Amino acid sequence: MGRQFFVGGNFKMNGTIKSITDIVHHLNSAPLDPKTEVVIAPPGLFLLLVREHLKSEIEVCSQNVFDKSNGAFTGEISAEQLNDSKIGWALCGHSERRAILGEQDEFVASKTKAALDGGLRVIVCCGETLEQRESDKTIDVVTTQLKAVAEKTKDWSKIVIAYEPVWAIGTGKVASTQQAQEVHSAIRKWLADNVSKEAAEATRIIYGGSVSEKNCKELAREEDIDGFLVGGASLKPAFVDIINAKQ
Ligand code: PEP
Repeated sequence: MGRQFFVGGNFKMNGTIKSITDIVHHLNSAPLDPKTEVVIAPPGLFLLLVREHLKSEIEVCSQNVFDKSNGAFTGEISAEQLNDSKIGWALCGHSERRAILGEQDEFVASKTKAALDGGLRVIVCCGETLEQRESDKTIDVVTTQLKAVAEKTKDWSKIVIAYEPVWAIGTGKVASTQQAQEVHSAIRKWLADNVSKEAAEATRIIYGGSVSEKNCKELAREEDIDGFLVGGASLKPAFVDIINAKQ
């Protein structure tokens, strides 16, 4: 069976009650490709508002999750709390959290495990900086990030991998289809060699980094690109065109 195309929208720390409600109404009424799985990640403050008003075919994702289930962890949210609130997904390892908040591979892996144990599905992000790409370390960096997850998690059936080159996030510089396909195919090979052949075949590997309605169709044609994680463009009406990239 083929891998279902997957499009995630990461709103980051953007939006107000009004603007996010408008996006929800737009997504509720837009013609969306029924073959695409769609998940949106609003800021934490708006998760319940979005879950309440968004149609049930679209899942809601937390931009963060902690690696403990409850307790004295001020400001954090657990997988159990998200699950209880019908928030089915969490993002782990986004490069902004790695770079700005200092999240290391080991912590990203713990959060991923806690999210899975707490009943969530997880979008695990990986990707190299420009400096790492220019010194030919892309595959090393990405597989090291994923190895940390594999050390704590054997079951990859509830994980989507987002390959997001840091130099392409929010910069308008999208990776070429060839650059993206090359890394996606290397990740799939890594899964086959280090997790299982089944995981390599079944795991969705999505691309993120300045995806827009203009470049999505070409990227979506690549064999190992199973969808997108979309930042800036997920706040715009054109997000629908990205969801429909396979049509
Ligand atoms: C992201 O935040 O994951 C992202 C890919 O952002 P953008 O689409 O804006 O580059």
